[in-house]
Amino acid sequence: MVNLGETDLPLGTGVPGVYLSPPGFERVIDLLRSGVAALAADEPFQRLVIPPVISRQTIERAGYVQAFPNLLGTVHGYGGTPSGWARLKPLVEEGGEWYAQQQIGDLVLLPAACYPVYATLADRTLDEPAKVSVEASCFRQEATSEPGRLRSFRMLELVTVATDEDCLKWRAARLEQVEGWFTELGLAVSVEVADDPFFGPGRKVYQAAQRMQELKWELRVPLADGTVQAVASANYHKEHFGETFGITAGGAPAHTSCVAFGLERLAMALINRHGKDSTRWPGDVLAALGGAR
Ligand code: AMP
Ligand code: ZN
Repeated sequence: MVNLGETDLPLGTGVPGVYLSPPGFERVIDLLRSGVAALAADEPFQRLVIPPVISRQTIERAGYVQAFPNLLGTVHGYGGTPSGWARLKPLVEEGGEWYAQQQIGDLVLLPAACYPVYATLADRTLDEPAKVSVEASCFRQEATSEPGRLRSFRMLELVTVATDEDCLKWRAARLEQVEGWFTELGLAVSVEVADDPFFGPGRKVYQAAQRMQELKWELRVPLADGTVQAVASANYHKEHFGETFGITAGGAPAHTSCVAFGLERLAMALINRHGKDSTRWPGDVLAALGGAR
């Protein structure tokens, strides 16, 4: 067999923030999936598997481009003609035919796992809360690549679409539950009000408003020596998605909340705490990961 070097930890690919996941690391990701499934077993979540691309129109409609144009990865396609293809200039060279004829397409790379859920519920009237569990490979064009800051990473989310009261109660309960879970996993967790990295001149105002209304809470844990990162966030979007996509709950635009887990970051945190061989982790930690051994 060809030796790929260290085969328990993610392998670099020559570009920042994109890694290959070998079996030892993937086993930890699987444990996390079963751990979240056990946490979520008290509610009937519909499980959806989400592709790594989403309609550009949906993302534009949701306001993502105004807020985070710098993070969004777009999907382009070659729009040239066969005759243009035959030009002498090397195709794959800056200014060459293949570069020159790139056109933005109808898809973008998915920046967060929950967006497709809101678009799928468009124009629906909900008689009871919609509960969805989603996992997706997400992409964000991150400027830096400190430990745990990837460009391609997996996000597992529990989503509730309901009335304002239901969403706020749900998020508070889940936040408390997840904080307790991380403690059981042996992680030194802190829970903090947070904001998103808005772009543009209005960013300070948006961030202050988000913090003041406590729309985002982050659960932060150590990932490596000297590095603490958010491994999960608990978000309340008010009626933003309900209004945008015409979803109704309780006679008014639906509200939405999500709890998002970053699988690679959580795996890194657990490996940092308990070692890279998950078969040797303490029994109570494995039990908190859904009892899988
Ligand atoms: P957010 O929507 O920014 O709250 O992201 C939800 C979770 O996804 C975060 O708490 C992280 O665990 C994870 N996450 C977000 N951005 C990245 C990234 N660039 N690399 C790895 N994980 C990330
Ligand atoms: Zn979300």
